[in-house]
Amino acid sequence: MSAAFCRGHDRLTDESRSPATQGTVLSLVVVDNLRKVYAGSEAGVVALDGVSFAIERGEFVSIRGPSGCGKSTLLHILGAMDRPSEGSVRIDGQELAALGVDAMARFRRRKVGFVFQSFHLLPTLTVAENVMLPLTLDGWADRPAVQRTAELLEGVGLASRGEHLPSQLSGGEMQRAAVARAVAARPELLLADEPTGNLDSQNGERIMELLASLNRQSGVTVVLATHSEEAAAYARRTLRLRDGLLQQDGEDARTRSPV
Ligand code: ADP
Ligand code: MG
Repeated sequence: MSAAFCRGHDRLTDESRSPATQGTVLSLVVVDNLRKVYAGSEAGVVALDGVSFAIERGEFVSIRGPSGCGKSTLLHILGAMDRPSEGSVRIDGQELAALGVDAMARFRRRKVGFVFQSFHLLPTLTVAENVMLPLTLDGWADRPAVQRTAELLEGVGLASRGEHLPSQLSGGEMQRAAVARAVAARPELLLADEPTGNLDSQNGERIMELLASLNRQSGVTVVLATHSEEAAAYARRTLRLRDGLLQQDGEDARTRSPV
C-alpha cells in the first residue's frame, strides 16, 4: 500500500473511540484506555493506568520514562506476548483481545518483530539458524528461507558469522543478529526494548543506525523503549510514560533522520 493511499484516507476516523486516541482506521497501532494490573500483592501492581495513543505506519516512536513506568509492559502487550487487564489494542485492524492462543502466536510470528535488551538468541543454534528460526516456524520452504537468511546476515554485517554460535560473537554482533531475526519475516511492527542497554556507546549507535535504516528503507514501523537519550534521538516522536500514565505525546525536536 502506498504512502499516498494512506494519506488520502487520514480522515477515516472511527467515531466510537475516545478523542485522545486520535487514530484512523488505517493506523497501524491504536491503543485505547489500556490498563495492566499485575496480580500479586493484594491491590496488584498497576503498570499501565489508562493509556491511549495511535501510531501510523512508518513511524519511529520512542517510549521513554523512568524505570518501572511501564515501558516493557506496553511493548509486551503490543507484541501480543501479554494481555491487557482492560482496554483495547488494535494492530493492523486486528483487536488483539479477540485472538485465541494459536492466533496470537501466529500474529507474533507474522506481524511483529521483537528485540530484547539481552539479545535472547538460542545458545545451541548457530547465528544463521537463529535468524532463520521465525521463517522455519512460519513454514517457509528451505531454499527461500536460506536465501533470506543470507541476505539478512549480509545486511547486518554478519555474512561471515552465520556458522558461529552466539557465544562466539560480541554483544554488538549478537544484537545485530537479533535485529536480523526480528525482521526476518518482514513484520510491519518492530518492537525494541532497551536494545542498546547492554552495549557500549559505539555498538549502541550501530544498532540504532540499523533500526533507523530499516525504518527508512523497508518502512517497518519502529517502537523503541529506552531510557537512553542517544538512542531516543533516533526516533521522530516520543511517548513519555510516568507511573503507568502517558505524560506527553509530541514530535521530537531532535530529529536525526529525514522524514
Ligand atoms: P519499565 O520497563 O518501564 O521499567 P515495567 O513495564 O517492566 O517498566 O514495569 C512496570 C511496573 O510493573 C513495575 O512496577 C514493575 O515492578 C511491575 N511489573 C512488571 N512485570 C511484572 C510482573 N510480571 N509481575 C508483577 N509486577 C510486574
Ligand atoms: Mg523495561
